[in-house]
Amino acid sequence: MSALIKKLAILADAAKYDASCASSGTTFRDSAKTSGIGSSGGMGICHSYTPDGRCISLLKVLLTNFCIYECSYCVNRASSNVPRARFSVDEVVKLCLDFYKRNYIEGLFLSSGIIQSADYTMEQVVAVARKLRIEHGFRGYIHLKTIPEASKDLLAQAGLYADRLSINVELPSEESLQQLAPEKSTVTIESTMGRLKEAISEHKAEKKEQRKKSTNRAKRIPDFSPAGQSTQMIIGADNSNDAVILNKSHHLYKSYEMRRVYYSAFSPIPDASSQLPLKPPPLIREHRLYQADWLMRFYHFKVDEITQTTSTDDGMLDLDVDPKFAWALQHREYFPVDVNRADYEQILRIPGVGVRTARRILQQRRFKKVRIEDFERFKIPFKKIQFFVQAANYTPSIGDVSSTAIKQRWLAQSQGTAFFAAAQKKNQLSLF
Ligand code: SF4
Repeated sequence: MSALIKKLAILADAAKYDASCASSGTTFRDSAKTSGIGSSGGMGICHSYTPDGRCISLLKVLLTNFCIYECSYCVNRASSNVPRARFSVDEVVKLCLDFYKRNYIEGLFLSSGIIQSADYTMEQVVAVARKLRIEHGFRGYIHLKTIPEASKDLLAQAGLYADRLSINVELPSEESLQQLAPEKSTVTIESTMGRLKEAISEHKAEKKEQRKKSTNRAKRIPDFSPAGQSTQMIIGADNSNDAVILNKSHHLYKSYEMRRVYYSAFSPIPDASSQLPLKPPPLIREHRLYQADWLMRFYHFKVDEITQTTSTDDGMLDLDVDPKFAWALQHREYFPVDVNRADYEQILRIPGVGVRTARRILQQRRFKKVRIEDFERFKIPFKKIQFFVQAANYTPSIGDVSSTAIKQRWLAQSQGTAFFAAAQKKNQLSLF
């Protein structure tokens, strides 16, 4: 194994804890024994979604896993006894170009431990992106992890070369951050997010203005992080409950126009601090948070509506049912929704009905009434909607069925489904 590949093995493995470049399982494809080109396998290659919905492969690596910080939840913290490696700027550029030319990847996700200082590290990260873009004319996707303590100038440069920038918020409260990541502070993280938000909107506004004037001879205004910014929160390393986490996400979406907040379940690490839990949180907790996040972003739920479904004892989402179903069980007065009369927003509130199905319902009823058997075609189990939907040939009799009974019936019929089997085996779950 060459020295470069050895480094790649260490630094791609160290990058896997960062969920903010959404990666998901894919089938392994390799062109080695075929006439095709490319492979979905290999170290450090993950899959991510671009803003226009395309799934792309990224080389996901750290520049180095040496770090002078001591975030106790992180396997790369200064005191951690893990194998260390460091790429030079040219090595990352070479790897990225080699993989790109072989069609292994369509872009780069680059993060780094902090070496010497925040500015020194950020300079190296920016140098990789600059070389790729300016010297090699690289047109692939670049996602740079940004260091909040780095200078304004370096952040401004990073935005000119990257498609997306991200700063990890790490933990939902300043108190937890002080306890587990003493070198970091919410004020610094959020003021950097604020600066990025301003720079992104200013560039967008200037470009819009330039398009309006359509002066072809005018100097083109460069893009600045056109795919916006994202962040990641670690779940289960501190004792913040789901209500606190969702309120924090809501604040980040609203205040800094985050494209995504990623949730990453804490994984116990060797020689960990006694402040950390011994066990990881159940993966289904991470899954429920993602579902709640989608309700806020695409289903027009207010954060309070979701947090009201959390347990009054511990502020946690119900792990047994998804948050939309939990909300529907708490708001029986809202149902049944007549799918032949209700507006889009009302239809979206029906458990099991997603954005696509809501649109299909609206489309169908322009020509013919929606009947209960149509839901089979929409692939929504009757058992899930039977108490929430009114259709042309169906009115539920709900008078004497309590929310607890509906939940029990749904759980009884869900046992043994692929979803529950995966949850019980603690496998990674798909989002919907
Ligand atoms: S700054 Fe903290 S989270 Fe990032 S690599 Fe260093 S120890 Fe890990």
